[in-house]
Amino acid sequence: MSDRTALDPSGAFASRHIGPGDDDQAAMLDALGYGSLEELVDDAVPASIREAAPLDLPAPVSEAEALARLRDLAGRNQVLTSMIGLGYHDTVTPPVIRRSILENPAWYTAYTPYQPEISQGRLEALLNFQTLVTDLAGLALANSSLLDEATAAAEALTLSRRASKAPAGAPFVVDTACHPQTLAVVRTRAEPLGIPVVEADLGAGLPEGDLFGVLVQYPTTTGLVRDDADLVAAAHERGALVTVAADPLALCVLRAPGEIGADVVVGSAQRFGVPMGFGGPHAGYMAVRDGLQRSLPGRLVGVSIDADGDPALRLALQTREQHIRREKATSNICTAQVLLAVIASSYAVYHGPDGLTAIAERVHRAARTLDRGLRAAGVEVVHDNYFDTVCARVPGRADEVVAAALAAGVNLRRVDEDHVAASVDEVTTAAHLDAVLDAFGAEADAAGLGAELDDAPAVAAGLARTTPFCTHPVFSSHHSETAMLRYLRRLADRDVALDRSMIPLGSCTMKLNAAAEMEPITWPGFAGLHPFAPLDQSEGYRELIADLERWLVEVTGYGAVSLQPNAGSQGELAGLLAIAAYHRSRGDEDRDVCLIPSSAHGTNAASAVMAGMRVVVVACDDQGNVDLDDLRAKVAEAEGAIAALMVTYPSTHGVFEEAIGEICDVVHEAGGQVYLDGANLNAMVGLARPGRFGADVSHLNLHKTFCIPHGGGGPGVGPVAVGSHLAPFLPSHPLVPECGPGDTSPGPVAAAPWGSAGILPIPWAYVRMMGGEGLRRATQVAILNANHVARRLADHYPVLYAGRNGLVAHECILDIRPLTKATGITVDDIAKRLIDHGFHAPTMSFPVAGTLMVEPTESEDRAELDRFCDALIAIREEVDTQPDLLRGAPWTASAVLADEWEHPFTRAEAAFPGTVSRADKYWPPVRRIDGGHGDRNLVCSCPPMEELVDQQP
Ligand SMILES: *Cc1c(COP(=O)(O)O)cnc(C)c1O
Repeated sequence: MSDRTALDPSGAFASRHIGPGDDDQAAMLDALGYGSLEELVDDAVPASIREAAPLDLPAPVSEAEALARLRDLAGRNQVLTSMIGLGYHDTVTPPVIRRSILENPAWYTAYTPYQPEISQGRLEALLNFQTLVTDLAGLALANSSLLDEATAAAEALTLSRRASKAPAGAPFVVDTACHPQTLAVVRTRAEPLGIPVVEADLGAGLPEGDLFGVLVQYPTTTGLVRDDADLVAAAHERGALVTVAADPLALCVLRAPGEIGADVVVGSAQRFGVPMGFGGPHAGYMAVRDGLQRSLPGRLVGVSIDADGDPALRLALQTREQHIRREKATSNICTAQVLLAVIASSYAVYHGPDGLTAIAERVHRAARTLDRGLRAAGVEVVHDNYFDTVCARVPGRADEVVAAALAAGVNLRRVDEDHVAASVDEVTTAAHLDAVLDAFGAEADAAGLGAELDDAPAVAAGLARTTPFCTHPVFSSHHSETAMLRYLRRLADRDVALDRSMIPLGSCTMKLNAAAEMEPITWPGFAGLHPFAPLDQSEGYRELIADLERWLVEVTGYGAVSLQPNAGSQGELAGLLAIAAYHRSRGDEDRDVCLIPSSAHGTNAASAVMAGMRVVVVACDDQGNVDLDDLRAKVAEAEGAIAALMVTYPSTHGVFEEAIGEICDVVHEAGGQVYLDGANLNAMVGLARPGRFGADVSHLNLHKTFCIPHGGGGPGVGPVAVGSHLAPFLPSHPLVPECGPGDTSPGPVAAAPWGSAGILPIPWAYVRMMGGEGLRRATQVAILNANHVARRLADHYPVLYAGRNGLVAHECILDIRPLTKATGITVDDIAKRLIDHGFHAPTMSFPVAGTLMVEPTESEDRAELDRFCDALIAIREEVDTQPDLLRGAPWTASAVLADEWEHPFTRAEAAFPGTVSRADKYWPPVRRIDGGHGDRNLVCSCPPMEELVDQQP
């Protein structure tokens, strides 16, 4: 009986997730010369790493059943009113934004905008984000997202170190009044770099001695709005850079840090419409003053021009990024928080500057009401200047007050035994304030108190904002819901995402993000929790987390997993920190060499440097495999100093290296640990487990293998999985020790204890609906699909590497270099011509320059795979017949409808290549974009309209 006709639909989801049906699988196998998936996999995957035993995972359930179970888990989370603050606040996601962005596959299934011509919509939303942050910070430019506030502060630490001329050994000075998780993450990151961190009460001025950077929180963690102008001046006089970690809503009514000379402003855009989600994901941000743009980590959207001279957006200064600069990179950040930055910027577009100011003023009014009520009752309020957080001194009574508020359904922050803080937000009502006042034993009359307030803000005159922000017309044009709905639709229509066509990105596993997996993340039972709420309020979440950790342990064959890292890059860092701590725990202080094959992803080397290691590159042979002789030589050269080898498996060349076991042995014999980059786990789930065939630690990318959507470049989740011997060295958290191993930990690598917990229902649902057999089948079909594509294209483009029996793993590299040499047609020409076919290009020039890497994933059906192959084959013919057609690609409607047409091919040949149905044509909004022009004329926030018009010829 087939799944689809069974009375019990358990297991049916796998047949929805996996693209090719049984007949197509059989036909594809037949063309490859195999009778079954098992036979194919036996030939493709080395026997030395194979495991016969099925995964010990719960039996699959249907979509309805998975959702019912998730509803039960969500129901076991208690969503109280959280006034804990500490950088996380309740907020209203405007329904038009929730539905049009967060719940809309056109936005959430998009890839990182490396192909700018098909990414103009999300690039515009990101440019809006940069403009918003730049204006609020009062600085020259901002990036379009970092991972969270704490890691943004840590990025500011290293940026300051590079930019300051202070002597080596000078410390980074941090204010005691920063959020504790921010300080902890900064310490984690400073320690392996040998950078001293000095904590001091900066309200009392700077400590004596050298320093290269200063970090303050604005307003402080307990709510004080302090005038730091003198502090900034003093720091500058001593050659240090100043970073201000700022609350963006507060900045709507407070003086911008840039106005007092701050060099860097970081923070979280969470309260701009992004649910707390038990800690994330949210967009961290960073803005810098002029002169620091080339040191800015993360992605930067800039304005350039296209082939017709029209303005067009693109990622600027990409040469700064880790994938180019590797161990010389300024940061390891790769996947960021694009979807969340898009939501936050859209929140600002929808509300506009006046709406944002009104929200900030309402929040401030609520805080003043609370302040008034507490003072009237004789409760001592600590700060006179504040924005949204009122800190009360209640000697010896903190626990009692917090408990009383809790009984009324409100979480307050216990600062210490004598202090309680309450942070109000966009959703705070008079009833909430009454509950808080009551908890303090004050008279509950917020409505009455509020009515008596005048308009004077509770900050000293010089601290209020006097400069306008968000003056660009985009922030005042879409305030009705109809206008906003259409603006978001217009932007989405400019882009290609998975909801249009296959995205064949090597190394990035752009598979289905099923609707049933996505639905739960916006349920209040998951979206509404504060990450530092008392643990008994998150029972459902913690069960979900424990399930997922257990399942990932089972899938990988390791001993323990931490879900804290909020991207693969952060998992890498956490894994390397665990290795370093392990060596130290055994008295092996001198192991600091990290061996990295030349084919590795750029984040590997960048992470190794952040973990305090020296990178030694190991050569690859001409088959793309790790050169064992070179490995042995490098190991011998660094005898006694080998800390780790980082190896990607299957390799970044898309091949199951036969020698993996031997490679692991060589490293272990030298006393090193094997870090296996798990980004390619989609080729192994259910077939082989890295923890069993020789590796000690891996990060996984849940936004690749386990169905979290790419979101246009984030969010991600990058759990780190380790052998039991490394478990004591997993990440921890200063406020929620339950998430980690305790004192042996190197510290937190993210602001929240379980990182981006809000999106963990996605992989949970995926594993639960697939079951062990479904996951294994998915892997087999991923390998089948890749080999199908490789075989169909082999006569047209040489496939660069293959493993045993001429088979590839889950992806393949097409070598374009011979074609380029013979004809001048480049990977770019092919990539841009694919746009005319409605396809996103494969990964370009990674890991080998001049090549295209294709990873189809199991979710693409045979028709789509063939349509993609047909497009590439048609392009190969055009190389010979119409090379200018490729050089001119992509062809916009405006280009093919121009009055003049002097090309040797027809307008229809340009616009309607053979694979395209005319009715369903995707029209790119811009022609090919000039990258160099953008970098030479860097414009990284929305320029005024007149300027854009001026640029037109
Ligand atoms: C994607 C990827 C990474 C980095 O992961 P992020 O989540 O983008 O930080 C590391 N290594 C490889 C091989 C990858 O493909």
